[in-house]
Amino acid sequence: MDKRSVLSLAKEFYDEDQLAELEHAISYAAEKHSGQKRLSGEPYITHPLAVAHSLLDWGMDIDTVLAGVLHDTVEDTDAELGDIENLFGRDVAFLVDGVTKVSQARAGMRSLDSYLPQTKDNLSKLLIAVSQDVRVIIIKLADRIHNLQTLKSMPPAKQKKIARESLEVFAPMADRLGMGRVRMQIEELAFRYLEPKEYDHLKNLIRKRLGKSTRKLGTVRTDVENELKKQGVPFEINGRVKSVYSLYRKLEKVNGNIDDIYDLMALRIIVPNNETCYRVLGILHSMYQPMLARIKDYIAVPKPNGYQSLHTTVITPSKQIVEFQIRTNEMHEYAERGLAASFHYHEQKSTKNYARKKGSSHLPGELQWITQMQEVAARLRDGEEISHEQLNVDLFSNRIFVYSPKGDIYNLPEGALPLDFAYIVHSDIGKHAYSFRVNGTIHAFDKPLHNGDVVEVITRRLSQPKKDWLELVTTTHAQTKLRMQLRKLGILQAVSGAAAIIRDKATRKQSNSK
Ligand code: MN
Repeated sequence: MDKRSVLSLAKEFYDEDQLAELEHAISYAAEKHSGQKRLSGEPYITHPLAVAHSLLDWGMDIDTVLAGVLHDTVEDTDAELGDIENLFGRDVAFLVDGVTKVSQARAGMRSLDSYLPQTKDNLSKLLIAVSQDVRVIIIKLADRIHNLQTLKSMPPAKQKKIARESLEVFAPMADRLGMGRVRMQIEELAFRYLEPKEYDHLKNLIRKRLGKSTRKLGTVRTDVENELKKQGVPFEINGRVKSVYSLYRKLEKVNGNIDDIYDLMALRIIVPNNETCYRVLGILHSMYQPMLARIKDYIAVPKPNGYQSLHTTVITPSKQIVEFQIRTNEMHEYAERGLAASFHYHEQKSTKNYARKKGSSHLPGELQWITQMQEVAARLRDGEEISHEQLNVDLFSNRIFVYSPKGDIYNLPEGALPLDFAYIVHSDIGKHAYSFRVNGTIHAFDKPLHNGDVVEVITRRLSQPKKDWLELVTTTHAQTKLRMQLRKLGILQAVSGAAAIIRDKATRKQSNSK
């Protein structure tokens, strides 16, 4: 990647002042990195330029792009954070600092099996950096993509390590942010290094299958186009091919039989608004026989990461099975770019909303995990011990959406129990929880909730939290609140000896280092 291609892409989005700033950042980084080389032998500056290029391509705001150019200067050169702040402002310096801390935290990771940093110090750095401003993760994703693209210069052991970490940590993060295209890019690049034979085999399999079905699909596509035109529906239609890695994952589920995979190639129809999505669904169902179990309304009930679309799989008169995905332009934009779409260069103001210090209720459901991450960071900062299992639940598990009877939406980790829900609604609701009704029927305290559940908490004023509830909550949030209540009630010791000692040590360490 060279300076000229970055600047020419930037010209499409930014005004002259911003472009001047970008040029300044590029010369500053080039000078700082001068003499350094990537393992490929290329000048180091090609890497930050590639990162900035991705961020521009994702439509990120200028501060993020500048931070992308500068992201390795503090860690790998004699540049200091203070210099960055003086030259490029506080926000850019804050982002560079966040990215630097994430790298340092990762350097503290001990083994391949555990991708969580081993020391609490590193971990709190990571969490705090990421939870304060989600743009830090977005820069890390751009960084990771370029590192994967240039992975072939690495020694094989390192290739596998980076590829595995990409699949296990970075792809899920991209997914969590709704960044579908980035997730897929990371998965494809990483899977290729992790399972090269499997990758080639599946790639060939897809090619062979598509050769046959593309021609047949062409007829279906023409028929649909003609019908939609006849009905006066404005639309765009295109085909999308399943990625190698998602085929691999799906094949695992259906015991390796590719005949059971109906969406190897799908037709995507993009229309102006929600109503038209449903209208198109109706038109398709009047043309072809739908497979009932495969009609999915992700518009009314979005996926936990915010993804929206209507999906349906139909059987054509020639017995061909075809999947359709119907969505609006906005939904398409979100499916591809996810959270990055909210940092658009012309919507700088929305950036602040996602940045920091907002209660769960202010964030859209799909982003409540950011707030939950902030809580974990705060607990670690306070010197509390949190086990690895617990952190895995909070940070890396899949998410579900559940609803209050009023229709308010809450985002919880998969496997969450009813009390987790009660405490996220309000700590008083948790405190006085007496029983639960899920989708209208009584639900046990120890039975996990599922995506889409409507959960009603029945409270009794006199009902009090019990010690064995500690076994009936899975989230850090609920645990923290419940512990506090149990301490107040004298059921749990005020502060346990061990925790007090740890806290003591932490304070002492802090004062020593000052
Ligand atoms: Mn980097």
